[in-house]
Amino acid sequence: MKNQSSRGSELRIILVGKTGTGKSATGNSILGKPAFVSQLYAQTFTKTCSESRGSWGEREMVIIDTPDMFSGKDHSDLLYTEVHRCYLLSAPGPHVLLLVMQLGRFTTQDQQATQSFKEIFGEDAMRHTIVLFTHKEDLSGESLMDYIYVKNKALGKLVVACVCGGGGVVGGRACGFNNRAKGSDRDDQVKELMDLIDGLMMEKKGDHYTNELYSLVTGSEERLKDFKGSLKKYMEI
Ligand code: GDP
Ligand code: MG
Repeated sequence: MKNQSSRGSELRIILVGKTGTGKSATGNSILGKPAFVSQLYAQTFTKTCSESRGSWGEREMVIIDTPDMFSGKDHSDLLYTEVHRCYLLSAPGPHVLLLVMQLGRFTTQDQQATQSFKEIFGEDAMRHTIVLFTHKEDLSGESLMDYIYVKNKALGKLVVACVCGGGGVVGGRACGFNNRAKGSDRDDQVKELMDLIDGLMMEKKGDHYTNELYSLVTGSEERLKDFKGSLKKYMEI
């Protein structure tokens, strides 16, 4: 466990969402290196949360990739251990949660993943969430906003829910990635995301997200039981 004061200026980002939507690929696109294993049927490989560091301009960041944690089916000890690991890696709390979805496929599993995500991190985590659609190339010229708000009302609602302060602000926080993009195309989409993150950070005055479970995360093994018990209760609410 790192000394938390040394984590002062870094931007902590957690990748969440259904397996196979392109979380790991998105992490690699942002970092510009093959930090995470990303492949078809990666379920068999990505079993545990992992982190990787990088930078964008002056900004240091740490990205935490998650395994199949949001299917809602698994309530075994393994899940709680994994959630604990994710909390440890992102302590004292993430600045941004990237909810990754595949364009063109807003399935019940995605809805379930969103639900599990809220159970694991708390409803208020939505206020630090940006929805990121992979397979942006499938838009073939169509606008992402039309896709979200006109063609898929359920998605529109979800994206609007990710806006802090309520008030039904139109726009929401969403962006698209083609994780196969290279060179300046890659840079342009990362820049678009970083602009969204800057906006979010301005709104939050630089504050990261946190909740009562983060305060339990001390890194000591004996508190793991505490954490698991509290997490179970937390997820039930
Ligand atoms: P994860 O399970 O959410 O981490 O998903 P992965 O990152 O392992 O990606 C699953 C598959 O989708 C891999 O074969 C990726 O190459 C592919 N993929 C991810 N993002 C994109 C994208 O934007 N466009 C295309 N065409 N394929 C993608
Ligand atoms: Mg993965």
